[in-house]
Amino acid sequence: MVLSSSSRVTTLPHRAIRLSRGLATPSTLPIKDCTSITPPYPRLLKTLDQVRDVLPKGSKLTLAEKILYSHLRNPEESLGGNGGNGKIRGERYLKLRPDRVAMQDASAQMALLQFMTCRLPSCAVPASIHCDHLIQAQTGAESDLTRSIEANKEVFDFLESAAQKYGIEFWKPGSGIIHQIVLENYAAPGLLMLGTDSHTPNAGGLGMLAIGVGGADAVDALTDTPWELKAPLITGVKLTGQLQGWATPKDLILHLAGKLTVRGGTGRIIEYFGPGVPAQSCTGLATIANMGAEVGATTSTFPYSDNMRQYLHATGRGPVAQAADEAAKQGFLSADEGAEYDEVIEINLSELEPHLNGPFTPDLATPLSSFSNFLNTNKYPTTLSSALIGSCTNSSYEDMSRVASIAEQAKAAGLKSKVPFLVTPGSELIRATVEKDGLQDTLESVGATVLANACGPCIGQWKRDEHKGEDNAILTSFNRNFKARNDGNLKTMNFLASPEIVTAMAFSGDLNFNPTTDSISTPNGPFKFQPPSGDRLPPTGYSAGDLSYAPSPSPTPKPETEIAISPESTRLEILEPFGTNFADGKGELPQMTCLMRVKGKCTTDHISAAGAWLKYKGHLSNISENTLMTAVNDENNQINKAIDIDGSEDTIPKTMQKYKKRNEPWMLVVDDNYGEGSAREHAALQPRFYGGAMIVARSFARIHETNLKKQGILPLWFIDKSDYSKISSHDKVSTQGLADIMAGTSTSDIVVLRVEKPSGEVVEVKTRHTLSADQIEWLRFGSALNYIGAKARETSSA
Ligand code: SF4
Repeated sequence: MVLSSSSRVTTLPHRAIRLSRGLATPSTLPIKDCTSITPPYPRLLKTLDQVRDVLPKGSKLTLAEKILYSHLRNPEESLGGNGGNGKIRGERYLKLRPDRVAMQDASAQMALLQFMTCRLPSCAVPASIHCDHLIQAQTGAESDLTRSIEANKEVFDFLESAAQKYGIEFWKPGSGIIHQIVLENYAAPGLLMLGTDSHTPNAGGLGMLAIGVGGADAVDALTDTPWELKAPLITGVKLTGQLQGWATPKDLILHLAGKLTVRGGTGRIIEYFGPGVPAQSCTGLATIANMGAEVGATTSTFPYSDNMRQYLHATGRGPVAQAADEAAKQGFLSADEGAEYDEVIEINLSELEPHLNGPFTPDLATPLSSFSNFLNTNKYPTTLSSALIGSCTNSSYEDMSRVASIAEQAKAAGLKSKVPFLVTPGSELIRATVEKDGLQDTLESVGATVLANACGPCIGQWKRDEHKGEDNAILTSFNRNFKARNDGNLKTMNFLASPEIVTAMAFSGDLNFNPTTDSISTPNGPFKFQPPSGDRLPPTGYSAGDLSYAPSPSPTPKPETEIAISPESTRLEILEPFGTNFADGKGELPQMTCLMRVKGKCTTDHISAAGAWLKYKGHLSNISENTLMTAVNDENNQINKAIDIDGSEDTIPKTMQKYKKRNEPWMLVVDDNYGEGSAREHAALQPRFYGGAMIVARSFARIHETNLKKQGILPLWFIDKSDYSKISSHDKVSTQGLADIMAGTSTSDIVVLRVEKPSGEVVEVKTRHTLSADQIEWLRFGSALNYIGAKARETSSA
């Protein structure tokens, strides 16, 4: 599309591509003490030798398997027996010892409240807390930060006091977004890390396995309890060719999301390989790994590369790079030649086009060349209302320098952003470096507003007064675009794209504009962008910025520290343990009433909304008031409407409260991929808090299914998905066969549900459970934490 009829095209000199690859890596950062951040390679290699002894001789391992299996507590127990000759992936439960835990401020509250119930003096592995999700974007970095610190003071005080008490590194508000900080400080090739956030896989950009979990899983690692994971299948993605022009690593994952859909990665690790991998920057790989969460993948990883080595040096972690080089020489940080994948997808980077994904789901992928047609066919808005770049997905130095190259071109053509153009730096390191190198000035000179180093609009912390309740379209370089996620408006359509495409489109304000082919009209004639260019690493090194945000490394626990929770607080509440749902910890579940049947997509955002509710993350009674408030009731097609036994209609949480008051156990029937999205354990805690005992689904998202088990709710899968509509609200449902499974006298995975209709008719529905032996104990004790606490007490009294 040409926006002007003039044939004169203004082209601007743009910066030559300056790749850092092959040059000495600049670092202005002092070399860090890497003792606590270097993976324990000798131990991992030794475990891997034991693994090879257990597996059939000559077994070839993928990189993902090497990292996972080298973290096994007991290879014989997890892989031996039938596992030695049988199938492991998708079948066996692995008992793992993660190396590290990272927690963001919203999810850390409940993780720490749970950790406190175990009464241990310190954490078993290094851990960090990152204050990023509670900073609301409104006017700009400084004022937003000051206001948000004031508004969330009691939460930050609580987190800081817990960090001090247990020896956790505490990253203050303003320090940056958890995943960017982890990549810059803690990620290392071959490491196994848990993070209480679904985009934890971002750290996979450094050739490790970083897995998003709920707080209860984090507590496993923090208490040195075996962390259990069903051995994932491995999807291999072979990259060939080279990215061209406007195509970026973001476009690769947007394209792959379109191929795999939001369910395609469930129960799988995505492992990239092939000649196209080493050419990608480390931060570009992190973007790809970050959005692996959007296809439901357990995590994503890449073989150790020269770009990873350079990134480690540039961020002051030369000793980690040296240790990784040694481990790589022993074959640890790449797949064995001939290793097999469960599925292989090949992508030729040379043919990859920029993509825009959405609206309302990250897997609706449209190539840029067809986007205008897509919008017009669907009658979607074609006027852009806001452009947002940054977030943990895309705020690397490379992203910012390439975006600045577009802004420079626009500025020279006399253009300014036509719409609000918001930039979220991922960390203080990035912000300070971008400022030092003049990129921030460039962006501000074309109308950008630089926000605080925090999640901001990406997590709904965006005070947006315009377009309330209106259909409108925004472009973001974020990773997720479910309804109402960014500004609370169900009608805002968020299309995900690379920061380069978002920025270029901000200057046209028109979503029909294709910056790779079209021109923008200017007083000097039509102006056409040249493809962006930039630096992978800052040419004169990173600038650390304000060091007061950062913690001192490996702080010593201070057991005398008082945990800061006021009994009057509406934000924080000491957690009371749940009781068991089983009589004497045995038998079948008591008969339950079906409270409702949830229809269609039900993400953790639907089950426990974010946005304004984030402030109650540490207060279970208060946050539970949002339970399933955007879910659709299949029986009346209404949002947030449930019918109580007496026929009265109310909101879903209010109806749940009535059941709780009557002490009446209840269950839910839900649809496919229930609980996809953020690793939000509140989505399991809240139904449990109101008395939910069982959820039967067409299918579950992995993390959420585990979270339900952790909180003592039994998740069951319909064997025949069409049985979904055989259970309706007010039916009385009992389990059959569960008692034998709980007692260990049956190895069957079948649980039959006896469903008694209000009419007296009885139907039977076959379901399947996925409980491991430990998970059976969690159910028996009422929650995983009850079980961990009981075991710890048993050990200390022995
Ligand atoms: Fe924050 Fe958004 Fe990244 Fe989540 S996806 S960590 S909300 S920036």
